[in-house]
Amino acid sequence: MTWDYLIVGAGFSGAVLAERLASQRGSTCLVIDRRDHIGGNAYDKRDAAGVIIHPYGPHYFRTNSDRVIEYLSQFTAWHPVEYKVLSWTHGQHWQFPINLNTFEQLLGRASTSEEMERTLAEWRVPIASPRNSEEVIVSQVGWRLYEMFFKNYTRKQWRRDPSDLDPSVCGRIPVRTNRDDRFCEEKFQALPRDGYAAMFAKILTHPKIEVRLRADFREVRQQVRYKRLIYTGPVDEYFDRCEGALPWRSLRFETETLNVEYSQPAMQVNFPNDHDYTRVVEMKHATGQKLPVTTIVREFPQDYAPGLEPYYPIPAPDARALYAKYAARAAAERDVTFVGRLATYRYYNMDQCVAAALAEFEKLAPLSA
Ligand code: FAD
Ligand code: UDP
Repeated sequence: MTWDYLIVGAGFSGAVLAERLASQRGSTCLVIDRRDHIGGNAYDKRDAAGVIIHPYGPHYFRTNSDRVIEYLSQFTAWHPVEYKVLSWTHGQHWQFPINLNTFEQLLGRASTSEEMERTLAEWRVPIASPRNSEEVIVSQVGWRLYEMFFKNYTRKQWRRDPSDLDPSVCGRIPVRTNRDDRFCEEKFQALPRDGYAAMFAKILTHPKIEVRLRADFREVRQQVRYKRLIYTGPVDEYFDRCEGALPWRSLRFETETLNVEYSQPAMQVNFPNDHDYTRVVEMKHATGQKLPVTTIVREFPQDYAPGLEPYYPIPAPDARALYAKYAARAAAERDVTFVGRLATYRYYNMDQCVAAALAEFEKLAPLSA
């Protein structure tokens, strides 16, 4: 048979497009993924001890988009969570992102929002339009807090100085002068009630959708016939890296199960200045699972090499210039849609992937009979 669409990647981008095309247009969709599961990096599972973990790093769903909430709510109920993060440095846990509680920890006494605002006004480096991640932080909180919490974490995560990264990288982290200590800013913050894997199973269950796992595009493209391609893998790989390899950042995850109910005081602890890992995540704090044991996941940044997962595009001017060459090739490719974090080389959150996939769906012209 000839499929209407071959969709490469069963993460948010591929799954949402398959669902829309199948349910709204009646198109036949073959969704392939080279991994052995659906969900892409958002995949979750129970480990051998029964603890729900996020094997590819913590996935905190959050959004300001009513459209995205409405769309995903067809496939899941929600478990509301306030994501809480601490930062470990100088021998203690600090409230993070920086807020009035952090400021009080620094002073060693009670304070007020007014005092914090006055002090930050003195510490701030006046920069009207920050051009990089160092400037975006020092222009908000000054050098001391930048060096405590951002400089070395960022170097460890990206193997680049914050001054060589776009403002948007460290600019993702809010700074507050009140006591709001939630990690994220968005109005809607919740996990899929039964997990991401269950939500993806619902999105992809449709008589017109077939999912094949452990299936690589390089082989499948020789074996199946299709009218159009939706590609959510790394864009440079699609073009055999003909313009040169795009820079990606990879990670190694180390999982440990412990015979205690909780191993750390919050869902996530960041380590800007200690250890080779950036953060330790104990998802039980967020899922609310009641178990006598727990599992933590440590995240070690590593250089990308073919064969590893390209977890992050690198938001920086040099990488963007190279990506522009691939974007031009992608735009010229007939009957192929490039969508998602890897195929458009964008540091997208999950909700942005859903929104981008819904927008792409609307742009796709119907197939002629
Ligand atoms: P992916 O999920 O990467 O899916 C692409 C799929 O394509 C993969 O499964 C891959 O195996 C497959 N593929 C690639 N090439 C081929 C090929 N040749 N053949 C077959 N299959 C192929 N977002 C948030 O909103 N909140 C968070 O807290 C958050 N935390 C994150 C933490 C980490 C460590 C990482 C890496 C990302 C995080 N994200 C978070 C971002 C989130 O993972 C992405 O926005 C989203 O999952 C991307 O979806 P996607 O479908 O575009 O890509
Ligand atoms: N960051 C930092 N210190 C922290 C947390 C984050 O310097 O304690 C910087 C770092 O550069 C990181 C970026 O802010 O890559 C974005 O952090 P986030 O936790 O949103 O990253 P992600 O979950 O996407 O890895």
